[in-house]
Amino acid sequence: MLQHDILILGGGPSGLSTALHLHKIAPHLASRIMILEKEHYPRQKLCAGGLVVDAERILQHLHLDVSEVPHVDVEKVHFEFEGKGLTIRSPGTHVLRVIRRDEFDAWLAEKTRESGIEIREGITVKNVIPDEGCVTVETDQGDFRAQMVVGADGSNGITRRCVLPNEPVCTARVLEVLAPSLPPPNSLNLGEVPAGRWGSGAAFFDFFPIPQNIAGYVWDFPTQINGESMRCWGVYDTNLLSYNARPALKEPLAQEMKRAGYELSDYEIQGYPIRWYSPQNTVSVPRVILVGDAIGADPFFGEGISIALGYGAVAAQEIRESFRRGDFSFRGYKRRLARSALGQTLTARWIITTMIYTLKWRWFQFLLWRLLKPFVHFVAWAFVLNWSRRLK
Ligand SMILES: Cc1cc2nc3c(=O)[nH]c(=O)nc-3n(C[C@H](O)[C@H](O)[C@H](O)COP(=O)(O)OP(=O)(O)OC[C@H]3O[C@@H](n4cnc5c(N)ncnc54)[C@H](O)[C@@H]3O)c2cc1C
Repeated sequence: MLQHDILILGGGPSGLSTALHLHKIAPHLASRIMILEKEHYPRQKLCAGGLVVDAERILQHLHLDVSEVPHVDVEKVHFEFEGKGLTIRSPGTHVLRVIRRDEFDAWLAEKTRESGIEIREGITVKNVIPDEGCVTVETDQGDFRAQMVVGADGSNGITRRCVLPNEPVCTARVLEVLAPSLPPPNSLNLGEVPAGRWGSGAAFFDFFPIPQNIAGYVWDFPTQINGESMRCWGVYDTNLLSYNARPALKEPLAQEMKRAGYELSDYEIQGYPIRWYSPQNTVSVPRVILVGDAIGADPFFGEGISIALGYGAVAAQEIRESFRRGDFSFRGYKRRLARSALGQTLTARWIITTMIYTLKWRWFQFLLWRLLKPFVHFVAWAFVLNWSRRLK
């Protein structure tokens, strides 16, 4: 049985960010952290890899420069309903940076190791048992004991299932496809392709599936794999309209890809759930706190990388306080989270999600994305982006 002070279960962005923030604000605790990760880096993680400005800003505060990771910069993001809508640009810089998660997570893990924090790869956690004096973590390679545990093992993680087995969760369905940056030649009449669709370095979000009871959108991002230009397509459904009849999730994806000249059946479809944030979610039990998708990602877009990095910053403050006081009840974590800039944006996004995706009429979505552009811009800048400026 191995003894540690802080065990972080999962070496994705939330677990690594928790460790890096602890190293920054409580360096005396850094040597007392161990991260357990079931895979070996670089490991695959299904994700479109869109990094918003908040992710970059949190990394900069950790003195990390994400431009070291292979990436594609997106100059324009289109938010559309049935092919038309509003465009967001950020003069002189990119709006979105697209990375591949195998490369990004391996880079972040390397930076974490360079700061002196131990990461054990290839260890799968099987059970998490908190009791009054410590937490026992059972793995496929023996048991570990720690003063406290951080559950950073993602949407399907074991930590939440062990410590909160009966809590209801809100989960989105997501499908993703990687395709060449141009569709096969002769696949369609070029005159039919919407202007500026290809080769523009732009990203597209189209909310046309909402009236079909798919409470989300279809996306299309530029990306790269080993330096080769590709496009990442996908469909996101919060499941908020799941009590109505819906087409198969791949149908709107196939429809949108066809509009750009691709046949969905030519490509491999991969799926993974995203657990999303709701203010009702429990975020800790005594001796165990959760971060990242283990609590919940942004419900509106399923955007979770900046959010995972932000959870790490807030959790590190809570952990520092708990060691200072010798009290591992984590009673104040939910309040700390709710009051933080991260908690505020998540709550705002949850309200926006429950409104916009349930007002599913075609005329409403048409009005919102095509006619109420200043309103959508205001909401995006005030509540969705730039929250990390206020993150302490
Ligand atoms: C299809 C898809 C597209 C997405 N696109 C975007 C996007 O463009 N932009 C964006 O911001 N977000 C996106 N997301 C969301 C984003 O991927 C997640 O929110 C983010 O990865 C959450 O980080 P995390 O550290 O909480 O969890 P994860 O990244 O899931 O990391 C969890 C880690 O824990 C490890 N682990 C799991 N179980 C165990 C175990 N039992 N023992 C030990 N280790 C374990 C895993 O191997 C993994 O390394 C997307 C998600 C999906 C599914």
